[in-house]
Formats: sequence, structure tokens, C-alpha cells
Amino acid sequence: MRQFDVIIIGGGVVGSAIARELTRYRLSIAVMEKNPDVVCETSGRNSGVVHGGFAYDEGTLKARLCVEGNRGMDALARELGFRFIRCGKVLVGKSQEDYASLQRTMAQGARNGATGLSLIDKDELARVCPAAVGEFAMLSETSGVLDPFGYTIAIAENAAQNGARYFLEHTVTGLSREGGHWQVRTDRGDFAARWVVNAAGLGCGEISDMLGLTGYRVIGSKGDYIILDKHTGELLPMPIYPVPSNTYMGIHVTNTTDGNVIVGPNAEWIDDHAQFAYYGVPQENIDYLAESASDIWPHIHKKDYIRNYSGILPKWVDENGKIQDFKIEMRPEIAPNAVNLVGIESPGLTAAVPIGRYVAQMMREAEPFEANPAFDPVRRPIARFADMDDAARGEAIAHDPDYGEIICRCEQVTRAEILRAIHNPLGVRTVTGVKLRTRAMMGRCQGGYCQMRIAQMIGEELGVPAREMTYGRAGSWLFSGEMGESGVDA
Ligand SMILES: Cc1cc2nc3c(=O)[nH]c(=O)nc-3n(C[C@H](O)[C@H](O)[C@H](O)COP(=O)(O)OP(=O)(O)OC[C@H]3O[C@@H](n4cnc5c(N)ncnc54)[C@H](O)[C@@H]3O)c2cc1C
Repeated sequence: MRQFDVIIIGGGVVGSAIARELTRYRLSIAVMEKNPDVVCETSGRNSGVVHGGFAYDEGTLKARLCVEGNRGMDALARELGFRFIRCGKVLVGKSQEDYASLQRTMAQGARNGATGLSLIDKDELARVCPAAVGEFAMLSETSGVLDPFGYTIAIAENAAQNGARYFLEHTVTGLSREGGHWQVRTDRGDFAARWVVNAAGLGCGEISDMLGLTGYRVIGSKGDYIILDKHTGELLPMPIYPVPSNTYMGIHVTNTTDGNVIVGPNAEWIDDHAQFAYYGVPQENIDYLAESASDIWPHIHKKDYIRNYSGILPKWVDENGKIQDFKIEMRPEIAPNAVNLVGIESPGLTAAVPIGRYVAQMMREAEPFEANPAFDPVRRPIARFADMDDAARGEAIAHDPDYGEIICRCEQVTRAEILRAIHNPLGVRTVTGVKLRTRAMMGRCQGGYCQMRIAQMIGEELGVPAREMTYGRAGSWLFSGEMGESGVDA
């Protein structure tokens, strides 16, 4: 049986941030991830906003770890090479009630340690965010946007480069204590570990039960989005939010690090865990999002829609349905050497790295770990042809002629970038694995031109037969029916 010091269940941004943090110590670490990539669930299905930390109750982990995550984001982005823009954000209001609510939000933010918050009038709003519709706003200067795929992948790849082993398409099905160790059963064999960490996102309740830490009620909050074509980004310098309620930030419009605009999310509560894998976006929700968000940003037109997506937040609620704080606990009397994370909903993206540090600190208080002198926090991203000037392009092509062949025309992604993505350190073999690492297929034509070429390259480079080629999630076969043995060209 394969044995590790630590097994982390769930390879999303939180599990990967914990894995990366633990690679600072001399530990053997495995990450069990049920999907074929680390961004198949919530970490790849969100707004990508780096929150300021004002929206959470004082004294909560959500507030503390969000503020910490926000403060550290510039340095982290430099270290790991993902896209982050500290562009600010506005919450726009129209009524006296809205104004009072924004005053309360601002005071809460100040108590949480959030900085750069101010109430601005209509003229100032028109200056900082000309297209926003509102009589006044709260400006959060420290808020920003990041590329959620690049961010999660960067953290995971850096963890892998520092020695964490990723077991993709391994679903944890059972946990038990045997001989002072955890036995971790998966659908692809058993593993043993001294420590286990539950970072299973939407599966946190089930893994918590397996640890014997029962009684958590976890519900889903599903939010749908519309993605708008890139030219709309010029009209949105920063995210625009409505005035939030206690439980929901409201339908907002968000600029992305690559120039698109996303509209959403709504919030539909789901109690049935069987629905946690349903990511469909009904037409009536799309219409509702557009109508609602047009009140704060009047540039949403059907001609600019290029895709939809949705994400599901795991919310831990009490018996009355009241949303709880992040739960990060060790209860050795029931589950020795286990860290249990429940309800890591928003701002989990912003807070992921501080969560990783928090978990590592809890473990180190129980057992001293020896430092790993070989730990390297720096990861080199794939250099993007689309970002280069002519001189840099010439140099890149001289160094590697594959930079001279464009595969994705919309996003100007070259063969060199796609090859680097195919040979990623996590061993991801899907078409969306390439898409989310390079932006190929993310442009106006959504892969109409390059998707088959990319599938063919994966087949050639990794020896994946056409019959086994998947788009993204397990079972998302690209080809079905009769097919010649020669592969995708047949
Ligand atoms: C609509 C929406 C908008 C959001 N917007 C923001 C935002 O703007 N800013 C922000 O800070 N946060 C935001 N969030 C929250 C943020 O995305 C999450 O808190 C964060 O991604 C959680 O990361 P995670 O690693 O815990 O979850 P996940 O990414 O879901 O990772 C958990 C992993 O565990 C795996 N897993 C589950 N069960 C098992 C099992 N039995 N065996 C093996 N693997 C398993 C899953 O496959 C999954 O990959 C948003 C979330 C949503 C849904």
C-alpha cells in the first residue's frame, strides 16, 4: 500500500494551497483529486474577485483570512506568475437605505482591518468607473481580480514541483484508523497516511462524516454567469456590485484579467447533494442575470454573449439555515491527526493561501516538522505570445520555432504554449486542461477552429487514443460511435 505523511483530500485551490504550504517541510504529501484537473469544481467556477474583507462579520475566519489573502496577493502573483490586477471595486447605491447599509459595510471593513475604503459621490463614481449606474458608491481600492484558473493551477503546480504528488481521478470513498495510521480508500486503490486533511469543497460534509466528525449540514448555493466578448472589457475598469445583503453579494459585473466581462451570479440554494455536480445554466437565469445587472451597468447585449458557466458554493449552515463561518478544526479525541475544513465558500479564493498557512500551523503545533531546504516558492508561467511585443516574439521564435505557429487564432496561442500545457507538472490530459492553461479556445469562436487540432496534439504527445480523449470532466468523451483506429483524423 502506498504510504504518505499527509494525504490531502481535494486538489482545488484550498487543498493545493495546503499542499504547497506543507512542502516547506520534509514531508511526503499526496493530494487525492476525484476530477481530471484541479479547476473542475468551485476553484474554476467563480467571479475571480480578490475581496477586500469588508463583507464578513468581525472576528470571523472569513474576515481575517480574506484580509490576509488580499494583502499578500501582489507578492504571491509575482512568485507564482498568475494574473492579478488590483483594480479596485465599487458597490453602487441609489437610496438612503443603501447609503446607510454602505456606511455599515465600511465600518465593518475598518474593524476587519480592510483598508482603502471610502464613500464616494456620483461625480467621483463617474470618474473612477464611468459606466457604473448609481447615485453614490463605496469604493474599495484594494479589491482586485485574478485569473482563477491560472491562480489555482500555479499553486498546484508549485506544490507538485516541490514534491507533492497529485493523484487525479482518485475519489476518496472511505477513511479508517488502522495501526495508528489513516487508511484512505479510493476508487483506484488504498493508501495510508499519518495525517489526513479534508479540503474536499462540495464533498466536505461527506469526508467529515468519514472522519467521524458528523453533524455538519452543508448546502450548495448555485450561481450562473454569462461571459461577454472581450471588447466589453474597455467599458469596465473594475467590478461593480450592488449593495450586499447579509448573506449574498448580489449580481455583479466583473472585469476579468483577460479583458472579458462576466455577469452573475444568482444564488439558488440546493439541499440535495446529488445536484452538486449539475452545472447547467437555464435560459431564464441568463435573462434574469442580464436584466438585473443592467441596472448597475447598461452594456449587456446578447450579441456579446460568448459562453455561460456556473459554480456552487459549499455553505455550512446551522439548524435554522444561518450561514456559518469557515470551520477549520482538529478534534484529536475523535479523529487523531486530521484537519477538517468545512464550508469554505467565498472568500475561499482570496483566502486560500492564508488557509494553507493556518492549517500547516495547526499541524505544526501538534507535531514539529523539519524545514525543507529545497523548497522553491517560485514558478515560471508559460510565456504568452499574445502578451509579447514584436522584439520579444522574434526572440521567442528564434529560441523555439514552435512560437512561430499560431494554433488558436482568436487568442493568439502558439504551438509552443500548447505543448508546454500538455506536458504540465500535474499530468492533466484533457482538452480543457490545455484551454485553462493557455486561453486557447477561450476567444470568440470558443474552439471552433483549434479544438480538434489541440485534441490531436494531446493524442500525439501523450499517446492518448482518440477513444479515451475527454473534454474536461470524467466521462466527457470527445468522440463516440464508429471511428477508425488512426485516431481523430479518421
Ligand atoms: C459562484 C461563485 C463565486 C465565487 N466568487 C468568489 C470570488 O469572487 N472571490 C473569492 O475569494 N471566492 C469566490 N468564490 C469562492 C471560491 O471559489 C471557493 O471558496 C474556493 O474555490 C474553494 O476552493 P476549494 O479548493 O475548497 O474547493 P474546490 O475547488 O471545489 O476543490 C475541492 C476539490 O475536492 C475534490 N473532491 C471532492 N470530494 C472528493 C473526494 N471524495 N475524493 C477526492 N476529491 C474530492 C473536488 O473534485 C474538488 O476539486 C466563489 C464561489 C462560487 C461558487
